[in-house]
Amino acid sequence: MQPIFLEPVFQSKIWGGERLHSVFGFDLPSNQIGEDWAISAHPHGVSVVQNGEFKGKKLNELWEQHQELFNHSKVAKFPLLIKILDAEADLSVQVHPDDAYALEHENERGKTECWYIIDAEPGAEIIYGHTAKTREELKDMIAAKEWDKLFRRVPVKKGDFYFVPSGTIHAIGKGILILETQQSSDTTYRLYDYDRRDNEGNLRELHLKQSIDVTTVPAIDPKNNFEVEKFGSSTVTKLVSSAFFSVYKWEVMTDLTIGLTADYTLATVVEGSGKLTVGDHTYPLAAGSSFILPYGIKTVEITGNLTLITSNSEE
Ligand code: ZN
Repeated sequence: MQPIFLEPVFQSKIWGGERLHSVFGFDLPSNQIGEDWAISAHPHGVSVVQNGEFKGKKLNELWEQHQELFNHSKVAKFPLLIKILDAEADLSVQVHPDDAYALEHENERGKTECWYIIDAEPGAEIIYGHTAKTREELKDMIAAKEWDKLFRRVPVKKGDFYFVPSGTIHAIGKGILILETQQSSDTTYRLYDYDRRDNEGNLRELHLKQSIDVTTVPAIDPKNNFEVEKFGSSTVTKLVSSAFFSVYKWEVMTDLTIGLTADYTLATVVEGSGKLTVGDHTYPLAAGSSFILPYGIKTVEITGNLTLITSNSEE
């Protein structure tokens, strides 16, 4: 078994910029790229395999035709989606439904997500939660456009981590570069978009009714509970464990040899560079590299000075 490296899929956004080029060296198709769908089998942007016997295959095809790579998952579709986001401008304030609401209204999964802040400009902020005590109060504040009163703003810095369960009102603010691990879903209910217009002069659609339906009221405020494990000078930190995924930070200082216990592991290098050794094969790793370690790989060795965000499906 060999690691499966994936080609980036770029998504143009009105709030996007060029940092996916300046930070990761990607050749971008425009200067307004908001997202790299780094590991995706979602039909709105599917990853293609870069190397090995499956080179050129799409990730959804691998999931459908080569379940041995994933230890014969019970889930019908590849469950996770990994993105890198460059917020040159503020993202819209939004909320995602849970599975029950999304399957009923959108015919796809809901979305619980989480964010690792790769980099943030001084003063950068996210919107994370809200102040309404009841759904009635939420409705009233939205109707009165009391956005400053409603939204809870939180300053962020490099290395911070936020768990964003479905039902959480949230927005990534300008100047933030983020690695997002999420359920594979593209359903977003937009609550507020700063009255911005796109290149054609149009406002983007809002989804106020759905937003009011799915927002958790009162807001919950998830607390991080990191578990840190030392491997010599390298560190593995469990950032979150949820019903959908567990997410880890692997900080490699010179060398990390790690045993894998999950069925398969997703990984993205967010900083630094080095090498990945699996059996007697060695692969270069650069910031922005994304790969899957399929079932059957029991141990990997990573050398260099680099940070990876890795995840396992919990379904
Ligand atoms: Zn979101």
